[in-house]
Amino acid sequence: MLEVDDLHVSYGAVNAVHGVSMRAEPGKVTLVLGANGAGKTTSLRAVAGFHRPRSGTVQLDGVDLTGKRAHVMVRHSMVLVPEGRRVFPTLTVVENLRIGGYRASRAQVDETIEEVYSQFPILSERRGTAAGLLSGGEQQMLAFGRALMSQPKAILMDEPSMGLAPTMVDTVMTKVRQIADRGIAVLMVEQNADAGLAIADEVSVITRGRTVWTGPTADADRAAVRAVLGDAALDDPDIGIGREPTAGGGTGER
Ligand code: ATP
Repeated sequence: MLEVDDLHVSYGAVNAVHGVSMRAEPGKVTLVLGANGAGKTTSLRAVAGFHRPRSGTVQLDGVDLTGKRAHVMVRHSMVLVPEGRRVFPTLTVVENLRIGGYRASRAQVDETIEEVYSQFPILSERRGTAAGLLSGGEQQMLAFGRALMSQPKAILMDEPSMGLAPTMVDTVMTKVRQIADRGIAVLMVEQNADAGLAIADEVSVITRGRTVWTGPTADADRAAVRAVLGDAALDDPDIGIGREPTAGGGTGER
């Protein structure tokens, strides 16, 4: 289980994140919603070791990983699929995958690549193609495949549907669901709330740098509305998101 508690992250004097708490359980997808600039990417990158949090904790299966750098996080089985996919465009599909498995032995890498190919047949078909020539959807599959090469327990995903054709969004979300169904904890930031809610188990809503609501997807329609409407909806009792977080969530306004 990935547990993020009361994260604070600053850019110099700017406190971009001040009180973000999130959970992701093995086999489950936690969707992180919030308006533009709410602090979603900053939170995810801090959890993944690309920003050092000012305070708060990041734990995976009870192991404290707070403030560790990204390559250490990968060693501890947590990996980020970044916004914009960031595949290596001049390298082939299989070369990109091998980079994702850089910690493993050659034999292990070969075995894991075959697993990735069975999960993403398109990557097998395109194994010798330069990643930069793939469609956006195929590049997203490659970014997932590269993350899976490290055999993670937790995957953080930043806006996997960004820039994709609507038909491809559903395909990508189905893949996210399948990744979680293999027992991996998925923490996913996604602006396309409808697409994310269709496959998520839990939802966390971030507003102005802090977690304001967390709970099961079935209860999250209103949270999504607030995320989309932004702060204008905060005090509207009809939207009703200001209630306390669910028990055990450990999140809420501070
Ligand atoms: P979006 O959906 O638009 O990407 P977000 O919820 O992911 O938004 P962040 O990108 O995490 O939000 O930004 C949170 C806040 O931190 C914003 O106010 C943003 O302007 C600020 N911020 C982000 N990156 C930097 C940076 N490198 N330097 C200074 N401030 C930053």
